[in-house]
Amino acid sequence: MENVTSYFGKNVFDDRVMKANLSAEVYQSLRKTIDEGAKLDIGVANTVAAAMKDWAVARGATHYTHWFQPLNGITAEKHDSFISSSPDGGVIMEFSGKELIKGEPDASSFPSGGLRATFEARGYTAWDPTSYAFIKGKTLCIPTAFCSYGGEALDKKTPLLRSMEALNQQALRILRLFGNDSVKRVSVMVGPEQEYFLIDREMYEKRQDLRFAGRTLFGAKAPKGQEMDDHYFGVIKPRVSAFMEELNEELWNVGVLSKTEHNEVAPAQHELAPIYTTNNVAADHNQLTMELMQKVAAKHGLVCLLHEKPFAGVNGSGKHNNWSLETDSGVNLLSPGETPYENAQFLLFLCAVIKAVDDYQDLLRISVATAGNDLRLGANEAPPAVVSMFLGDELNAILEAIDKDEPYCGTEKKQMKLGVDTLPRFNRDTTDRNRTSPFAFTGNKFEFRMLGSSNSISCANIMLNSAVAESLKIYADRLEAAEDFETTLHDMIRKTIRDHKRIIFNGNGYDETWVKEATEQRGLLDYRTTPDCVSHLLDKKNVQMLTAHKVFSEAELKSRYEITLDNYCKAVIIEANTMVDMAKTEIVPAVETYLKDVAETAVLKRTMDENMNCRYETKLVKKLSSLTERIWLETEGLEEALMNLHKAEDIAAKANMIRDTVLNRMGELRVVCDEAELTTAKSYWPFPTYGELLFGVN
Ligand code: ADP
Ligand code: MG
Repeated sequence: MENVTSYFGKNVFDDRVMKANLSAEVYQSLRKTIDEGAKLDIGVANTVAAAMKDWAVARGATHYTHWFQPLNGITAEKHDSFISSSPDGGVIMEFSGKELIKGEPDASSFPSGGLRATFEARGYTAWDPTSYAFIKGKTLCIPTAFCSYGGEALDKKTPLLRSMEALNQQALRILRLFGNDSVKRVSVMVGPEQEYFLIDREMYEKRQDLRFAGRTLFGAKAPKGQEMDDHYFGVIKPRVSAFMEELNEELWNVGVLSKTEHNEVAPAQHELAPIYTTNNVAADHNQLTMELMQKVAAKHGLVCLLHEKPFAGVNGSGKHNNWSLETDSGVNLLSPGETPYENAQFLLFLCAVIKAVDDYQDLLRISVATAGNDLRLGANEAPPAVVSMFLGDELNAILEAIDKDEPYCGTEKKQMKLGVDTLPRFNRDTTDRNRTSPFAFTGNKFEFRMLGSSNSISCANIMLNSAVAESLKIYADRLEAAEDFETTLHDMIRKTIRDHKRIIFNGNGYDETWVKEATEQRGLLDYRTTPDCVSHLLDKKNVQMLTAHKVFSEAELKSRYEITLDNYCKAVIIEANTMVDMAKTEIVPAVETYLKDVAETAVLKRTMDENMNCRYETKLVKKLSSLTERIWLETEGLEEALMNLHKAEDIAAKANMIRDTVLNRMGELRVVCDEAELTTAKSYWPFPTYGELLFGVN
């Protein structure tokens, strides 16, 4: 087998390829664009495009695409071939700088939430040179941002890049105040851990709910679930391990730093974690990872389920967003430093995150809101829908000491006098682990755990980056105007701790009493569902903050509000329609066939001997008959709830009706159907059961 180092990134137009294929002058100029955002001269762009094309064609590519992330959560690509006709009747392969920098896909079918009037159907894509181009199949993929002709973002990358820039600007102001003049750039670094399920493809094909909704809408609990915890970190089965091996190879080919893989808690559940990288690249790579997971699974007769809650009663899938800030010289600003002075800076960045998470709990919750994730947040394996933070014992003790103006007796057992240059040295405590917190400090990074497995990581990071930029801006404004830097700094840190300590919770987030304490005593927000939270996207404080940092315009926020609710409604309506169809055309007929056979058995028995009592058959027929009647009634109830949706006057009202009626009706229908499953002989059941799905891959 080939050594990974020899093929890692072989399909990526990365720095190594640029250096080898561009003149020193062109390379330097491109590097300036990548590192500092300098505008690219069209002459340089032409040269880069030609080099990219030659490199791609030599690797078998025939097409190129501007690869982007519209607001429907998946990636989009429109392929154009490199060919251009030549007068002699043949073709030549061409690719210009203009084509590299800008594309004009007909974008009328992508969601825009009213941003793009239909007469202005075209949008444009713009090259993101900070994320390397790569080859997928026979196509050169160029990572791009996607905007309307008016310049409004129609994608997730544009606001992500803007939020990274906002954070960079504010973090640099803080670093300058601490006398650090050499840092040129502060980057957001992200490592997303991705959870997923693998099931057998033949079984998947037999279930409409999996095919149309990505999750099971029916299914009685299997005799065995995750009770024994014997799957977590267990031996990886041969078919799964063959899948993982090929997935890694595919990911490494396109430069994704796939690093860790293991079985997760639920049967058939697994996780993949890459090595962290710059936020926008991490987002592109995570999209690519999700896409390749599905492609490689298909090759192995498997299906990869990325839905947040594919099976009721066992754990759902999330995505842990590991997040930190790094300077261009490689210093992690969330790493406690060697000197007290560095630690004061560290504490200030820490406080900025604490303040951001408390002030913008709603935005963080909104950033992960989908119909699928609603089924997971608050269920017993996932963090609750309440946002809180875990800091660990040592940091907590330090913050408490500052808050109370008390001496700090930490690991060094030294009294802490207050004042910046006497802040204590402390060791980062990596043994401190809390798995139930939605937002945990884990030594030198924060881990935001509310993301659903199918969420784009862009959404959460846009909000997190912006909120932290806002805290830093407030700090920088005060510190720049301060007469006494150290006192102001100290007071600000203490004020942050005092004002925001309600968001810090070090206990068990899965404990029921926590949600009560959080909402009743601490006044934290508990938005259980997508319709509960999304309207707050347009709250004044949120619009002000996000527009001030130029992350979103007001029109863009309105459009995202519409699209989030629209996606929510569509997802649930598809599920409801699928349930109606499965109940009517598969479940009821199966139960009735069984019922008929049981009834015929009784008749047969009686013809053999008229004194046979046939009590079993009689009882069963009655039970089955009452079940089919209940299923029929519940189906009608659900259909009625769906019909009523047209009465909703706007998308918010529709989403509320779905939350309050349709989802309940779906739940009722499921209960009866699952009961029918347990009463019907297995050979009659029209699709694979939970037991078969969850334990069917070996
Ligand atoms: P765990 O399951 O214990 O949380 P993993 O090793 O599965 O740990 O995942 C940790 C993730 O955090 C990896 O993707 C890793 O690259 C990422 N990570 C580590 N350090 C940082 C950092 N400083 N900034 C951002 N992400 C980081
Ligand atoms: Mg983790």
